[in-house]
Order: sequence, then C-alpha cells, then structure tokens
Amino acid sequence: MAPKIDITTYPGNIINGEFVPTPTTRHSIDPATGEPLYEVPVARREDLDAAVRHARAAFKTWSATTHEERAGLVRAFADAIEANRDELERLQTMEQGKPLGLARTEVDMSLRWLRTFATMRLDDEVLDDNEERTIYSTRVPLGVVGAIVPWNWPILLGLGKIGPALMTGNTVIMKPSPYTPYCDLKLGELAMSVFPPGVVQVLSGDDSLGPWLTEHPGVDMISFTGSIPTGKKVAASCARTLKRYVLELGGNDAAIVCDDVDIDKCLPKIATLAFLNSGQICMLAKRIYVHDKIYDRFRDAMVEFTRNHIKTGGGFEPDVVVGPVQNSMQFELVKDMYAQIEKCGWKTALEGRVREGEKGYFIEPAIIDNPPEDSRIVVEEPFGPIVPLLRWSDEDDVVERANALETGLGASVWSRDLARAERLARRLAAGSVWVNSHFDVAPDVPFGGHKESGIGMEWGLEGFRHFTNSRSLWVWKKVFE
Ligand code: NAD
Repeated sequence: MAPKIDITTYPGNIINGEFVPTPTTRHSIDPATGEPLYEVPVARREDLDAAVRHARAAFKTWSATTHEERAGLVRAFADAIEANRDELERLQTMEQGKPLGLARTEVDMSLRWLRTFATMRLDDEVLDDNEERTIYSTRVPLGVVGAIVPWNWPILLGLGKIGPALMTGNTVIMKPSPYTPYCDLKLGELAMSVFPPGVVQVLSGDDSLGPWLTEHPGVDMISFTGSIPTGKKVAASCARTLKRYVLELGGNDAAIVCDDVDIDKCLPKIATLAFLNSGQICMLAKRIYVHDKIYDRFRDAMVEFTRNHIKTGGGFEPDVVVGPVQNSMQFELVKDMYAQIEKCGWKTALEGRVREGEKGYFIEPAIIDNPPEDSRIVVEEPFGPIVPLLRWSDEDDVVERANALETGLGASVWSRDLARAERLARRLAAGSVWVNSHFDVAPDVPFGGHKESGIGMEWGLEGFRHFTNSRSLWVWKKVFE
C-alpha cells in the first residue's frame, strides 16, 4: 500500500532514504493570499555532499538493474503519486497559484509521462555485423544527475527529469525552486517508499544550492529548466568540470494566424493558450501574428472571448483560468510590463488591470493592439497574462518576424490550407512547431529549444540519449582462431 502524505509537515530533505533535518528552515507563501506556507529545510553544502556521496554509491547497483526492474519501480512510483493525487493537487494550487483544474491536468500528465517513460528503452544499435566482427553503438548512464526545476510546473517538470534519468540507469538529486518546494519534497517522500536509498533524493535550499549543485565535482550531469540568464550561468558552471547538461529555457513563441481560418473555431484555443497559467508557461502563444484581412475581426473576438471566458481569481475558485502570478519578483516584472502600456503609448484592445491593494498577486489579462515590432512586449518574454496581436500580410515577412528573436522554443501556424501551413511551419526556427495547435507535448516526443531557448532535448528517446554516454563496442570474433 502506498504511504499517505501529510502536506503540512516537511521533516527534512530526502537523503539516502531518510528525512534529514537542517538547522534552519524557511517557507514560501501562497500567492493567492500572501499567507505563509509550511516550513521547509534549507540544505547546507554538507547536505549536498552527503546526497552526492549516497547517489554515487547507489549508482553502482542502480545502473546494473534491468529495464524491467527500473520500469517496475517507476510504475510503482506513479501509483504512489496517484494514491496521493488529491493532496498533491491542492498543495500545487496553494504553492504555485494555478487553478485546481490545471493542477489536476499537471498530475494527469505527470502520471502519463512516468508510465510512458517506463515503456521506453535505448537498445543497442548494430552498426556492422559480419563474420569478422560486430560493432555496436551502446548507451551507458552518466552517473549522478542534478535536476533543477522552475516554479511554474514543479511536478511535471521535476518528474520529466527524474523518469528519464532513472530509466537510463542514473541516480538523481532534484532541486526544486525555492518558490515552490512543497510538491517536489512530497514527491521525494513518495520516492523514498519505492526506490532503494540514494536513487532519488530531493534537496530544498536557498539561492546557494543551485550553484553548489552545478559546480559539484561528484555530479555528472545537470538537467536544467528555467530562464535564459540562469541557463547561461549553469552552462558556465558546468564547463569547469565538463559536466554534461541539458538546458530548457525561456521562449517567446509566435503564432501565425492565416486569413483562411474559422475564427470561431480556433480563437478559444489561441486565447486560452495565451493566458493559461497566467502566461507563466515557457511555450505559450506570446506573439500572435494575425493576417491583415481578418485582423480586426480576430482582435474583437479575442477581446470578447477573454472578457467572458478567461476569469481571474484564486486557484480554488470555480472556472478561474488566470490565477495569481506566482511570486513577488515575477509580479513586479509583469507590473513593469503593464506600466509600459502608458509609458510607450501602446494601444490596448483589452486594458488588463493590476489588482493593487489585494493580498494576492492578481493581474487581469491585457491584449496589446499591433504595437511596434521592436517594443518590449514583442521582444521580451513577459511571463504574465499580457499578449500582443500583430498584423501581417506577406508570408516571407511574417516568417522573418517570427524568427527574428534569439528565442526559438515553440511556434505555430493556423490555416485550413494544410499544405500552406506545413510549408510555413517548416520555415520556423523552433524546437516544437504545430499546425492548428500550440503547446502540444508528449512524453515520447522530444521537446526543447533552438537558439537561446535551450541546448539538447528532453523527453522522447532523444531526451533519454542526453542522460547517457555513447559507447562504441567493437567485438572481433576470429583473432584467436
Ligand atoms: P530561474 O532560472 O530563475 O530558476 C530556475 C531554477 O534554477 C530554480 O530552481 C532556481 O532556484 C535555480 N537557480 C537559480 N539560479 C541558479 C544558478 N546560478 N545555478 C543553478 N541553479 C540556479 O527560472 P524560473 O523563474 O524558476 O522559471 C521561469 C523561466 O523558466 C521562464 O523564463 C520560462 O520560460 C522558463 N521555463 C522554460 C521551460 C522549458 O522547458 N523550456 C519550462 C518552464 C519554464
């Protein structure tokens, strides 16, 4: 029987199958109420050293397990999470702010991700096979993986690293964001009941812990999701020990809407995928290029839909789509973007509103009407519920504008003419490109960014390969005949 978690207590970090308390603790706050949440540990350097030591010891046996053994335990981990899903979903809404329905979606996805990872394997490839010799390409685990997680999808993005790291034979130390440590610590607690000690460990800390992890000589790889500036620091730090790394970083996705779309059919999806999770998703439609012929109708329909269907409020209120912004730092950043509206004289189709004076970090959606292409709302990732609509009329021009930035995470094309849409889609410089959709992801489909949006891919067998070294194995058969 899976253990039941108590979301009100955090007795320690999860190190070598035990709770290890720390001399000091800290807490985050509920972004919808401003109220403090529970006390969590603050890892010291010596806690990390201990975790790395245990992870290295556990690697010796874990890396020698079979695919079936690993898959069985990853499935058992998913079952333990499922048995506690109601508590985790509530906790996710409390710490992250996302509406409860979206927290449910996150847990649904996480379970599907883990269970799919359990079916995936990197088999040897035979490169040459004849009477004389066989040459294989084999994949071997790297060792200890440091998994660094951001605050917007702490469950899915944490498990999206743990699953592939384990299935490829590595041990893993997860570090949640200090803004959202709670669900990730509970995942560590559940993992403790499933995996041998040292295989999955979770350390919550302050801002020092990330740099300690990336520079630690006993860590072999960093799987990082977060912002572009931090990603660059992670890469620089990993360079000192030549650690492997995968970076999943920020995006500023273009959605290109052609003149032949049925506005009523595609608009609800486009508008929702602009404002979901209060705009705090790396791969949302953040620059919506609408063909000149339908621009006015599209803009008016988007304003009406957003007014009527994109409700702002606390995550436990019914029908809310836009919960609070997750933390005070992000609140200030988004507020600053809203302040630019007046300062720069951008025309608003929907004004949006920062709800000052409330305890939570609430900001209502804003739609900016055709701002200049070089304005901040177009070139920067706002990571809040504010989106620009931009006019286009020439295909070459819109492709150039969509590709103009240093980011290249996702992009989409919306058209009834699939041949035209696919032709345009193939010209977009991004790690994921969709026709008549945006933000589709799957555990067996690689996901990552071009340009400054990342290095390497997560998920899919390609993501699995990043957790391994390639080893070419040459077997000569007749040397001693
Ligand atoms: P962030 O870069 O501030 O923090 C991410 C994680 O890195 C946190 O756990 C943080 O504690 C840790 N960290 C901070 N400084 C560090 C350092 N010097 N060394 C090592 N670790 C360090 O990002 P965030 O604000 O938590 O997340 C928002 C950003 O993440 C957005 O830009 C968003 O687009 C991006 N993001 C990308 C993806 C993706 O898959 N590409 C997914 C979600 C979010």
